[in-house]
Amino acid sequence: MSNTLSQTLAARPLTLPHVITVDGPSASGKGTLSRRLARDLGYVYVDTGAMYRTLAWWALKKGLKVEAPMSPAEDDAVVQLMRRWKAETRVVNGQAWIHVEGYFPEKEIRGDAVEHAVPVLAQISRVRDWMVARQRDCVGFGPLVMEGRDIGTVVFPLAPVKFFLEADESERQKRIEGRGGNTSAARRDQMDSTRKKGALIPALDAIRVNNTGQTPDETYAIMRRHVEERLRPA
Ligand code: C5P
Repeated sequence: MSNTLSQTLAARPLTLPHVITVDGPSASGKGTLSRRLARDLGYVYVDTGAMYRTLAWWALKKGLKVEAPMSPAEDDAVVQLMRRWKAETRVVNGQAWIHVEGYFPEKEIRGDAVEHAVPVLAQISRVRDWMVARQRDCVGFGPLVMEGRDIGTVVFPLAPVKFFLEADESERQKRIEGRGGNTSAARRDQMDSTRKKGALIPALDAIRVNNTGQTPDETYAIMRRHVEERLRPA
């Protein structure tokens, strides 16, 4: 990011929260590109998938069943746990993470059990409400790049810059295999796209970038250009 743009952004009065939203399915490049954008702009990076994963990890650790189909009583058990857990969002090295009793389970949340449970738990309406409120609170940390599934549609529908990243199915599958493979990504995408609340869909005003066949640098250059255009003072 050029100095000029960073300086312009820093000099803007904070009348509006600066939030850049990045949504998309698994292996669409959201994580890498959002992190890079946040770092270059000096914004705080928020990985909302990690927030859902942290709750899934905690629920499994506490012995709850988080597997479809969930009964109303099983949903309630997750919600009760969430209302009691000692969770706090903290910024560490420019990234906001939920810490549970002071601990951020960075490695644990990438394990297979969490991978399997997270889209099930993410379908619970009261879980989504809780997460959305915590995600909105992050504006207290400063300007944000926030990535997820419903950030541009539900969490920050008025954000000035919204991206929806996509890539063809076969390309995303190749990327997943390249990372060591994870067969449940397609299942997660399907569950995320079809749930009733906070479904994975592009916001009407999102900039859609299909990055099939692009290098991360190429996609990043496209995103940066849009950020410069949208956030430049009139
Ligand atoms: O981004 P990541 O792949 O880590 O997200 C894990 C899961 O968390 C998603 O598959 C989805 O079920 C849930 N999620 C969500 N809403 C978000 C972010 C993630 O439902 N904003």
